[in-house]
Amino acid sequence: MRIGIDLGGTKIEGIVIGDGGGERLRRRIPAPRDDYERTLAAVTGLVADIERELGARGTVGVGIPGTISPATGLIKNSNSTWLNGTRLFDDLARRLDRPLRFENDANCFALSEATDGAGRGAPVVFGVIVGTGTGGGVVVNQRVLTGANAVAGEWGHNPLPAPRDGERPGPACYCGRSGCIETFLSGPGLARDYAAAGGGEATAIEIAHRAERGEPIAAAALERYAERMARALGSVINLLDPDVVVLGGGLSNIDRLYERVPQLWAPYVFSDRVATKLVRAVHGDSSGVRGAAWLWETENE
Ligand SMILES: [Zn+2]
Repeated sequence: MRIGIDLGGTKIEGIVIGDGGGERLRRRIPAPRDDYERTLAAVTGLVADIERELGARGTVGVGIPGTISPATGLIKNSNSTWLNGTRLFDDLARRLDRPLRFENDANCFALSEATDGAGRGAPVVFGVIVGTGTGGGVVVNQRVLTGANAVAGEWGHNPLPAPRDGERPGPACYCGRSGCIETFLSGPGLARDYAAAGGGEATAIEIAHRAERGEPIAAAALERYAERMARALGSVINLLDPDVVVLGGGLSNIDRLYERVPQLWAPYVFSDRVATKLVRAVHGDSSGVRGAAWLWETENE
């Protein structure tokens, strides 16, 4: 059996996927914040509980916020900052007494959707999480493309393509630059754009609801959002040419994007027609933990 662990900032989730691909068990525990030792103990305890309950030993794949630096073997780029600079991979493998597989949580999301989700059967899948940030992952033939720097698919900190005058230099980003895709396409990015246009304070989902009800400022903000996503995904299509782009995260619940973005991305794609499909994630919030379990389906074991 395959055990998947999703190491989130506020919760740690465990799942078991059986041989037929079905879910056998799921557990969720609070994540110990700001405490590395207790994080190790929590994951080890969760795996032990799962294996005791099912009476079997499994493979373990772990989805993490951030990545393991190929240069140092240490965790980097994690917004669960107490994990940065640690040897999480080695420490957990030793405590669990088995080889582990780790991937960035956005890569796990993409793998889950490419394996038995919205991108099932597609040779090349680009998975995007649009929520508090804009993560991304690439899966080719049901295998995660990690990359030489372990940043494949991290489109969120590229500059927004073809910026208009009002988009230059763009909002400041926590990465130190301005005008990153994330500053426009994250939930806070949409909220900022709407507020700047005079709409007041509202969450991204509330803005989408207001747009549906015909509020002009919200409708205009959502149209700008869709057009920016079209530009950003157009450049991804030119580089990667995915069969399917899967959207996950809170903003993936905005129905209008699936109709509007593909109408708008054609001018940015170097092709006479665009066959790429834009679809909503099937597994929702479960994709990260499912993809972590699937890390042990995709290579020779
Ligand atoms: Zn940035």
